[in-house]
Amino acid sequence: GDRRLRLPPWLKKEKVLASENENVSRLKKQLKHLKLATVCQEARCPNLGECWGGSEDSLATATIMLMGDTCTRGCKFCSVKTARAPPPLDPMEPENTSTAVASWGVEYIVLTSVDRDDLPDGGADHLRKTVQLMKLKKPELLIESLLPDFAGDKISIEKLATSGLDVYAHNIETVERLTPWVRDPRAKYRQSLEALRYAKDVNPKLITKTSIMLGLGENDEEIKQCLADLRANKVDVVTFGQYMQPTKRHLLVKEWVTPEKFDEWAVYSRQLGFLYVASGPLVRSSYKAGEFYLKNVLR
Ligand code: SF4
Ligand code: SF4
Repeated sequence: GDRRLRLPPWLKKEKVLASENENVSRLKKQLKHLKLATVCQEARCPNLGECWGGSEDSLATATIMLMGDTCTRGCKFCSVKTARAPPPLDPMEPENTSTAVASWGVEYIVLTSVDRDDLPDGGADHLRKTVQLMKLKKPELLIESLLPDFAGDKISIEKLATSGLDVYAHNIETVERLTPWVRDPRAKYRQSLEALRYAKDVNPKLITKTSIMLGLGENDEEIKQCLADLRANKVDVVTFGQYMQPTKRHLLVKEWVTPEKFDEWAVYSRQLGFLYVASGPLVRSSYKAGEFYLKNVLR
């Protein structure tokens, strides 16, 4: 039989339809002339209206994916394609995407990427160059990069930490006990904490950020331990979202965490001293990423 849990009322489709303001239509129009694929559109993210729309409280934010669409890892929650040897990097990507992003109307760009364990530096040089060119072409653009663990390679982490990016993000994804079951076996809980810690040590001006998915079978004590571990490693920002099973072949959802429970985690995390917390069933790591920057860093 079908062991999948039924969707709770707060996740039903009609409730999550994106609204669209003028800024969203403007960005969509501009995008037609730029060769740029956004994760927001390709993943049909329900937050597009809020992220692209921006507001007094939030910078217009969008996410793009770099280094191809094929990952060398196979996390059991993720629907990205997997291969041992994905196609080679496009050497023109740093130049082309930086030109496109700089001429687009977004104020805050999130760069995400697949993991490239097939490359000697995990793609660190490629990503560093992309960030540098974006800052060169549009210095006021704020850049967040959601980065791999680089298999713990400190030289690669340092290359990104000193690239000029504003926010160094790496997702811990889940609590320590569930890590080997949820993430690719090459990902390690401690290694992820160390990557975040090292980035901050190399460049203390960086904001460091991570995300946790809820609904995979973790318990409250384990989440508290994870949050304590993150703070002990100087992580500034944490986001919580509901795990959603992307296809039948992926991990089952163990629990639909209620909106009230997400609020409780936000309050708890703020008490621990995180600079900013976003928490809700539909929150993704890049959700309104420009908001915390505007509220906590620029003002
Ligand atoms: Fe795009 Fe991320 Fe916002 Fe979704 S949450 S619209 S992927 S920036
Ligand atoms: Fe997906 Fe990232 Fe895991 Fe690759 S490393 S499978 S892109 S979550």
